[in-house]
Amino acid sequence: MIEIINVTKYYGSHIAVKDLTFTVKKGEVMGFLGPNGAGKSTTMRIITGYMPPTRGRVLIDGIDVLKDPMRAKKRIGYLPESPPLYRDMTVKEYLLLVCDLKGIKGRKKEMETNRVIGISGLEQVTKRLIGNLSKGYKQRVGLAQALLGDPGILVLDEPTTGLDPKQIKEIRSLIKKLAGNKTVILSSHILPEVNAICEKIIIINKGRLVASGSADEISMRLQSRESIYVKAKGDFKKIANTLQKIKGMQSINQISDEAEVLEFNVEFEKGRDLREELFYAMAEMGCPILEMKPNKLSLEDVFVKLTTQEKVVETGEDLGSL
Ligand code: ADP
Ligand code: MG
Repeated sequence: MIEIINVTKYYGSHIAVKDLTFTVKKGEVMGFLGPNGAGKSTTMRIITGYMPPTRGRVLIDGIDVLKDPMRAKKRIGYLPESPPLYRDMTVKEYLLLVCDLKGIKGRKKEMETNRVIGISGLEQVTKRLIGNLSKGYKQRVGLAQALLGDPGILVLDEPTTGLDPKQIKEIRSLIKKLAGNKTVILSSHILPEVNAICEKIIIINKGRLVASGSADEISMRLQSRESIYVKAKGDFKKIANTLQKIKGMQSINQISDEAEVLEFNVEFEKGRDLREELFYAMAEMGCPILEMKPNKLSLEDVFVKLTTQEKVVETGEDLGSL
């Protein structure tokens, strides 16, 4: 479990992370989403004890990262934004070196190294120089070093950035495979990425938390009114006049009218369902409905909305218990 408690970080006078609080429970795969410069890498460096926060605390399985860094760090595998790979070492040599750094000794050293080589699919390149590997393979080496020592927590900073679509798919499925029995926090500035891998999402912007929950929960909360798309036959003016009289109706906006067929959106109070009334009203006017469906905010819309308006979504729950 990772607990981030009121963490603030200044670089000089520049505030990179502001009063951030959230929890990643054991076994959860958390997506840490935000545009470039939002403070994701800074937060991850603080979580992994690479850098102290200006204020606030981070607990790893209850251990304070600042007070007991060795014990806390042992539980974490960290893939930094640009992993410190040594170009002149072979894959195997590098992983053995990381074993030394992590204090993995004796017979365990060879066993652990072979284990992570297997998981990360590096068998074919163990003797190759890291500098000569493709970007996708370098990233696998980065993941492999994070997995040495079998930590229960993985902190992965933009693990697929710079990879081609095939490599992205491979790394994603690798992360999913690993996620089974680990607590994972993974950052990204790309929405589909988080959506593809993570159950829970934290969105930050300019160092502040702007939303948290599952993708669906966040979309629902952000929507301030219900909206339905309707495709029907008839005269828009007449239809709009009649529908306006339905209680709770807020707006009716035409999208298009091609020949006989109209398309429009109706918006009404949040929490109400006007579909039946809409149906009967349209039938009474002799205007057949050809299609009717709710307009949902896509995660993409949510992201744009949240990271351009700086609006905080009321989560209605204790963030600490996410
Ligand atoms: P992200 O990973 O979300 O792109 P970062 O955590 O890297 O964001 O950066 C957050 C903010 O802090 C940015 O405005 C960035 O320019 C600034 N920043 C990051 N690292 C440093 C640093 N070492 N010194 C000064 N400013 C930094
Ligand atoms: Mg970053």
